[in-house]
Formats: sequence, C-alpha cells, structure tokens
Amino acid sequence: MASIAFIGLGNMGGPMAANLVKAGHKVIAFDLVAASRDQARADGAAVAESSVAAVKGAEVVITMLPAGKHVLSVWHEVVPAMTRGALIIDCSTIDVESAKAAHSLAAKHGIGSIDAPVSGGTGGARAATLTFMCGGAGKAFASAKPVLENMGKKVVHCGGAGAGQSAKICNNMILGISMIAVSEAFALAEKLGLSHQALFDVASTSSGQCWSLTSYCPVPGPVPASPANNEYKPGFAAALMVKDLTLAQDAAKAAGAATPLGKHAQEIYKAFDAAGNGGVDFSGIIQHVRKLADQ
Ligand code: NAD
Repeated sequence: MASIAFIGLGNMGGPMAANLVKAGHKVIAFDLVAASRDQARADGAAVAESSVAAVKGAEVVITMLPAGKHVLSVWHEVVPAMTRGALIIDCSTIDVESAKAAHSLAAKHGIGSIDAPVSGGTGGARAATLTFMCGGAGKAFASAKPVLENMGKKVVHCGGAGAGQSAKICNNMILGISMIAVSEAFALAEKLGLSHQALFDVASTSSGQCWSLTSYCPVPGPVPASPANNEYKPGFAAALMVKDLTLAQDAAKAAGAATPLGKHAQEIYKAFDAAGNGGVDFSGIIQHVRKLADQ
C-alpha cells in the first residue's frame, strides 16, 4: 500500500480520497476549505497543514482542482518538495497546454507525471467507478494504474503528455452536442404530438441511439435514474459543460481543427448558464431548447 498525498477535496476529490483510504492506502489530504478537511479526517485520512506539508515523503501525489491555473500553482509549490522518483497525477479537467506545462515542470524535478481526467461524475467518484483517461510516459502510467484502479473501473492510457485531457474534451464535446440533439428531437416530438415514450422506444433501438438518450434521457419517464426525473439536479452541472466545451474550443483553435457544432453547443450552454442555470444539470438544456421556439 502506498503513501498518497491528495490535494483538492471537493465534490470529486473528497470521495476519491475516501476510496483510497478504503483500499488501505495511507492518505494525507489537504484542501483550502476547512469543511473539506474535516470530512477527509472523518473518512479516515490524515490532514496536513498545507499542500507542501502533505506531499513530504509521499510516494504518490494526486491533485483534483478546478482549472489549469490552480493545478499549475499547486504543482509549482509541491513538485520541488516531492521525493525524487515519486509520482504526481492530476485528475482535474484542464486545458491541454497547462497539462503539458505541468508535465514539463515535473520532469525538470525528476518526478514522474500523469494527466488523468475522469468521467463518471460525483456518483462515479463515490462508487469508485470512474473512467480515467491518462496521458504521460509508459513507466509513469504503469505506476499510476493500480492507484487509479482503487477509484475507478476503467483506466486507459491515451498517449503522451496531455493525451488524457485531449481525450476528455473530445468525449465531452460529443456529449454536449448529442444532449442538444436529443433535446431538439424531444422538443420536436412534443410539437408533433408524439409521446416521449414512443420516441424513446424507437430511437433507443434505432440509429438515433446514444448515451444522452439511453442513459441520461433529458425528459422524465423513460430512464428513471436520469436527472430529468429529479428536477434536473446535477449530476453534471451546466457550468461544467460550459467549461469543457470552452476547453474544446480553445484546443480546436490552437490545433487548427474545425468544430462548428462544438462551437454552437458552447454558445447554447453559455446562454443557458447566463440565464442563471449554471447549477442545473446539463440535460436541463431541453428547457432552453423548448424556449427557443418562442423567440
Ligand atoms: P470542486 O470545486 O468541488 O473542488 C475543487 C476543490 O479544490 C475545492 O474543494 C477547493 O477548495 C480546492 N482547491 C482549490 N484551490 C486549491 C489549492 N490551491 N489548494 C488546495 N485545494 C484547493 O470541484 P469538483 O467538482 O470536485 O471538480 C474537480 C475537477 O474535476 C474539475 O476540474 C472538474 O472539471 C472535474 N470534474 C468534475 C466532475 C463533476 O461532476 N463534479 C466530473 C468530471 C470532472
């Protein structure tokens, strides 16, 4: 069992750190927020006074922070304080350029590094069923894999530095676009007098089939566990979808890729967010789509 420092104990990081404790690791946790530190202590982790104190002597350091600027700021603090030959893993969703800069920083100090963003949301974080998309050298990935398997059910090596973040934003661009497509189909069906269940029964077994329809249906009824049955409580908040679609647009611009539907999806979720719906599940976009008919 390893000695693991865990920095960033929010909605995702808190339960992920708790699963490492459950797996028998010695976890030393830190977050800026006192309530998160208290929860980590209650979950069985030791709590450090600072990020730097947490990483002293740790074999593995994990960060789970909001955005690239937070990750780079924490890595600049902790990487020089880590033991040479140790491993640092960032599980946050951040821009590809920051992820690459973080890898370079670690390499300069003789520290192995992996970018390992996740999919599966807070439910997956609690149930240890996340999917990890990893970027970095093969040796670092081999060391990271058994640790990540304590927090998830699937760990994929996507390529070199930043490849995990690239996979994450490509996947979430598909998700953002497909949820709007499914929402438009239900909004049209409503106007045509077709029941939700009838459209679901046909499309879920036809060529319109996709995850946004069959696992996360944006209308109540056909998929009982989807947030539509629970007043669109997240789940995956619309503000996070805006974040991921913006990362995808930034990456597309930097790489010279054309993503017209990704761009349009970003604009639609941004408008939904600006109308005060950032905390609503992203499948609530169907409410916005319905309103477009009145404009
Ligand atoms: P969150 O805001 O709940 O947690 C982030 C935590 O980082 C907070 O507790 C904050 O206090 C802490 N923090 C910020 N700066 C810090 C610092 N300098 N030192 C120590 N702690 C610091 O966010 P979250 O929902 O847990 O998401 C974390 C990351 O995972 C994000 O990049 C997000 O995009 C990604 N993600 C989230 C979900 C989800 O459903 N919530 C799903 C997949 C990926």
